[in-house]
Amino acid sequence: MDGVITSIQRFSLNDGPGIRTTVFFKGCNLRCAWCHNPETFSLADDMMYDASKCIGCLHCVAVCPSGAQREIDGKHAFQRDLCTHCGACADVCFPGALEHTAKVMTCDDVMREVLQDKAYYLDSGGGVTLSGGEAMLQADFAAEITAACHEHGIECAVETNLAYELDPCEAVLRGFDLIMFDIKQMDSAQHKRWTGAGNETILANAKRMDGFARPMIARVPLIPGATDDMANLAATVDFLATLKNLRYLEILNFNPLGEAKYRCLALDNPFVTARPYSDQQMSDYQRALSGRGVEVRVG
Ligand code: SF4
Ligand code: SF4
Repeated sequence: MDGVITSIQRFSLNDGPGIRTTVFFKGCNLRCAWCHNPETFSLADDMMYDASKCIGCLHCVAVCPSGAQREIDGKHAFQRDLCTHCGACADVCFPGALEHTAKVMTCDDVMREVLQDKAYYLDSGGGVTLSGGEAMLQADFAAEITAACHEHGIECAVETNLAYELDPCEAVLRGFDLIMFDIKQMDSAQHKRWTGAGNETILANAKRMDGFARPMIARVPLIPGATDDMANLAATVDFLATLKNLRYLEILNFNPLGEAKYRCLALDNPFVTARPYSDQQMSDYQRALSGRGVEVRVG
């Protein structure tokens, strides 16, 4: 079976315990306004275009079948709305101004990369994490990778948004060694404002998933003005305190590194001026949220 991914990151330390390889699935059912992986939003091979790297060779114009790559007054121009995502332009752009965002891979392709670091996973208590995007939009492919990891004695975790119908994914989710999920906003209207969907399905799925008896880690992204008010965070912790299989809550600092990606994808970034919290502020949040029945860690 083929799957569509954006990238595979080796030696990841932020996607679960120990040293991990993170597989970023392409395609997402939410549109979190602060997402630092906007290249995973759609399943299509959207071109990332960095004009500062373009040398004007016009090789892309010669191969583009849709007229999206064009020459205007002897200079290169990219008319993105004409692009049909064939990927031909990125293949001939040797300075790297144009880059693919999608790779079609088989499970064997993924495992070839994963197995290179098996010794590190075993030494550090790490493994593989399926992230995204939303891995459960390609649940069969996720299940194939999970089974292949287990055949090789490697633990496999998932980072999932839980904003989908659970029944078709239940067997796949039960196969993971660890399930990490986000709670972003306890107010459904605010959740819809910032992610495009209400939170009812997510909260109901978190409760149902607790019945799978799999270890779970919850994560809350601290986003200035969107998720970081104490009323929301306290309500989040109180909800999580009802889950029996939750190991702990991680509070995640705002990540500004998506800014260049938004620019290269010509997407609006409402958090372009936002900055991460200081270490002291993160510790203050951790302290303020502790003592409510859930261990709180800074992620
Ligand atoms: S192939 Fe790359 S460097 Fe050459 S004109 Fe196109 S975008 Fe610019
Ligand atoms: S991906 Fe294909 S259609 Fe889109 S700009 Fe590149 S060559 Fe043209």
